[in-house]
Amino acid sequence: MVLINDTYRHKGLRRQLSVLLKEKGIIDAGVLKAIEAVPRHLFLNSSFIDHAYEDKAFPIGAGQTISRPHTVAFQSELLELKKGEKVLEIGTGSGYQTCVLLEMGVKVFTIERQKELFDKTKLFLPSIGYNPKFYYGDGYKGLPVFAPFDKILITAGAPLIPAPLIEQLKVGGRMVIPIGETTQTMTLIKKLSDKSIEKTEFGEFKFVPLLENKEWGD
Ligand code: SAH
Repeated sequence: MVLINDTYRHKGLRRQLSVLLKEKGIIDAGVLKAIEAVPRHLFLNSSFIDHAYEDKAFPIGAGQTISRPHTVAFQSELLELKKGEKVLEIGTGSGYQTCVLLEMGVKVFTIERQKELFDKTKLFLPSIGYNPKFYYGDGYKGLPVFAPFDKILITAGAPLIPAPLIEQLKVGGRMVIPIGETTQTMTLIKKLSDKSIEKTEFGEFKFVPLLENKEWGD
């Protein structure tokens, strides 16, 4: 049993957040249930804690942000997750999105390139009862050793679709990736065969950038 500071007040605020997300168009009941389950206030720095259940992004250190709940819910919904699936997540960050995926009954492999965030989240998530597989490294390369994946989720703005990630997606699998430099178009990629993909675009979003190896050193 994991003891955490999660009160009825927090649970009530999460319920309201899930109602708000429904009003904003999220229909997947599994996603809404996951949003109601994950204690987002524990992922934020204490100065933002009172705002944890507003639909806003917040800084999480190392120049990164925890995505807005609507963005997390929207990306999760596009994945059409089924229990037991193997999901690769690029950009662990605070681990909030990771926990939403885990609540939906999938197995998560998550990669983070910022050492500070990687170390912090790898300690924090198990302390509140969430156990994905954590990897420190460059998400552009994916995790070839554990491929193929049923689903792949990229939680940073990508200038292009990383070819290794398409390779590591199962035929019939789905990848959700925000594509663009300053703002991003949410893009769903379905892998139809070893040689063909289908792309569908869904509105504009704002993410921190997916950084390539050559830009490391910050
Ligand atoms: N899903 C996160 C939001 C993360 S913000 C959450 O819910 O908190 C995007 C994250 O992607 C940042 O932590 C950033 O460091 C990470 N990132 C950027 N480029 C990356 C890369 N090439 N490989 C792995 N992680 C990367």
